[in-house]
Amino acid sequence: MSELETDVQELLEETRSQSAEELVQTVLARFGERVALASSLGVEDQVLTDMMCQTVAQPKIFTLDTGRLPQETFEVIEGTREKYGIEIEIIFPERDQVEHMVRTQGPNLFYEGVAQRKECCRIRKIEPLRRRLDALDAWICGLRSEQSTTRTELDRVEADETFGLVKISPLADWSTDDVWEYVKARDIPYNVLHDRGYPSIGCAPCTRAVEPGQDLRAGRWWWEIPEQKECGLHLRPDGKLGRREDIL
Ligand code: SF4
Repeated sequence: MSELETDVQELLEETRSQSAEELVQTVLARFGERVALASSLGVEDQVLTDMMCQTVAQPKIFTLDTGRLPQETFEVIEGTREKYGIEIEIIFPERDQVEHMVRTQGPNLFYEGVAQRKECCRIRKIEPLRRRLDALDAWICGLRSEQSTTRTELDRVEADETFGLVKISPLADWSTDDVWEYVKARDIPYNVLHDRGYPSIGCAPCTRAVEPGQDLRAGRWWWEIPEQKECGLHLRPDGKLGRREDIL
């Protein structure tokens, strides 16, 4: 068992009976400056932002500005900064890579095929994420088991072999109702697109509203078949996470 897996097992045992809030507190105390929330500004991440702000004055929260986000997402950043008085670190892709990609393949290459879409996600999301995660020992994210039929084996604490970090998903066993009850009770800022039929929000050209009863992520890369949707942010070598879609 690797050192990472040993750490994960210890943390899993220690936190097994803890609530999501308690897990966040434990993780912040344990990793300090070496843990951060990778926030997509979606409603789950807003819950986690609130929990972190209940625990420390200036939690480490970052988000990826892909250059293609909807304006409503930037309004969430502003509302969150205002409510909690915190800084949200905004990470950008490498300019040269974006310029080359857009110049050679066009601004909307993602509609041309899976390879092109993954290339865009790699440049605009995965590489910036990797760059930021390099400075951490653990990361927190808003994954929930219910969000996708492919996310059925999600543990709250996992070894993220892709990035060599402990990955913590405090809301893994929360339902959609749990999330919204928390948000409404605490008057937490959230993306207005959620009220317009967007359960999952990413880049504007790759996200659309879903019909009632549809899979929660059916509006992400809707032109692809589900097995093609993973983007590399939650992969690990044993393939267990290989079918999970990305969250950002
Ligand atoms: S979600 Fe779409 S626009 Fe955003 S990085 Fe991926 S392919 Fe590019």
